[in-house]
Amino acid sequence: VNLPIHEAVLSRAAEFGDAPALIDGTDGTTLSYEQLDRFHRRVAAGLAEAGVRRGDVLALHSPNTIAFPTAFYAATRAGAAVTTVHPLATAEEFAKQLGDSAARWIVTVSPLLDTARRAAELAGGVREIFVCDSAPGHRSLIDMLGSTAPEPDVAIDPAEDLAALPYSSGTTGTPKGVMLTHRQIATNLAQLEPAIDAGPGERVLAVLPFFHIYGLTALMNAPLRQGATVVVLPRFDLETFLSAIQNHRITALYVAPPIVLALAKHPLVAQYDLSSLKYVISAAAPLDAGLAAACSRRLGLPPVGQAYGMTELSPGTHVVPLDAMRDAPAGTVGKLIAGTEMRIVALDDPGKDLGPRESGEILIRGPQVMKGYLGRPDATAALIDPHGWLHTGDVGHVDEDGWLFVVDRVKELIKYKGFQVAPAELEALLLTHPGIADAAVIGVHDDDGNEIPRAYVVRQPTAPDLTEAEVMMHVAERVAPYKRVRQVVFTATVPRAASGKILRRELRERA
Ligand code: ATP
Ligand code: MG
Repeated sequence: VNLPIHEAVLSRAAEFGDAPALIDGTDGTTLSYEQLDRFHRRVAAGLAEAGVRRGDVLALHSPNTIAFPTAFYAATRAGAAVTTVHPLATAEEFAKQLGDSAARWIVTVSPLLDTARRAAELAGGVREIFVCDSAPGHRSLIDMLGSTAPEPDVAIDPAEDLAALPYSSGTTGTPKGVMLTHRQIATNLAQLEPAIDAGPGERVLAVLPFFHIYGLTALMNAPLRQGATVVVLPRFDLETFLSAIQNHRITALYVAPPIVLALAKHPLVAQYDLSSLKYVISAAAPLDAGLAAACSRRLGLPPVGQAYGMTELSPGTHVVPLDAMRDAPAGTVGKLIAGTEMRIVALDDPGKDLGPRESGEILIRGPQVMKGYLGRPDATAALIDPHGWLHTGDVGHVDEDGWLFVVDRVKELIKYKGFQVAPAELEALLLTHPGIADAAVIGVHDDDGNEIPRAYVVRQPTAPDLTEAEVMMHVAERVAPYKRVRQVVFTATVPRAASGKILRRELRERA
């Protein structure tokens, strides 16, 4: 694990040789392990020749493509830290990230070039914009494959040098730059490896974005390190997703709850042959046990497993190991991985450790805890205490066997007359109603100033007449009185981040 990330991932590339590393799920273009290894070295040479140096920040601005990993590992081999950018970011948002991270280089794709150019203009400080494909006036990574420049020999210090500078999802506030060293990412890959089966012959579907740490880890670094084939899709579209599983005989899915929801409920699913699948893992947001069960029953698979983590944790701490998927208790996000410590402490007293089945804030300490937020020592100090414990801001508890259950974020808990109500629990319950396609819950203040749960509900096309009263009754029949949904608003969609998280912040602004 004391290796630069490109070496930690590609150390066995020569051994995997002609096996397919990446396949474009739209047109079938394939990149072998031998090509991935050779190409990223040539592009690293090209980038170094263009002036990329150790310690520089390079912004990688691209949807999922088979070239994405080449660009990423080439940049780190040249000594740069990669800040991944949401491909749908506006020029203003992108410029903010460029300015904040002091990025000197951009790698983009021709369809996004205009945005990248405007962002670079707004931010200043960018020396050059490269493209993965080709565009007049810009150096292309494809041209760099022919570079005769020597491979850069950069003395990377894995413990100190940054490999990645992802921005947190911005679910709870402004996205923050998360400084992750080579060693932090490589260590976490090694910690997660026993729980992930992505060896030769396995085929994973990269439908979640590589730019987010979950996709970067589960769909790029981990499978490429172990020799699996990654089938790449540029965005989530249910039909394309289902036909890719069928046509490419996908063996494992790493997804987020909205995709589990689609797999469990959408009529289209029945029209595809998904028999190649061996298991489904969900992470990034709370997943209801009932929904998970409905999904696995429908697909004839072991119960959907979960993993838990956050950008600041490189990103994983918990996963349901594959050999335990059948026996793990419903709803768990998994067991603590090796080399990591956890405490659960009282919400009103962080000095007080709680026992099994008592819910409190989850604290983590381990080698995968980030170096800090870029340029924000105050925010870093607020998150990581002087003893190295990272306060996740998530509420959870463990059972007697150490299985972790995540309830919700501390900040999202609704305080109803002194009781605490977790929106995630109510959302899960709402989704068990056959007439509800999707749902989100936030706290709003009523006329008396009390915080009360309000549900935003998307009706199923088959249930256009579903009423507010029916929705409230469905919940009221199943929970303690203080947890009742007290307002219902019907809506066309629930706002979500690219990683699948409900953007409750946007709903609060609407409210
Ligand atoms: P920001 O920190 O900018 O507000 P964010 O916290 O959504 O955004 P991420 O690092 O992408 O950014 O997400 C980490 C969070 O996702 C965790 O703190 C937790 O709340 C949630 N999460 C991850 N996995 C799970 C899971 N299996 N079950 C429930 N929640 C999860
Ligand atoms: Mg967070």
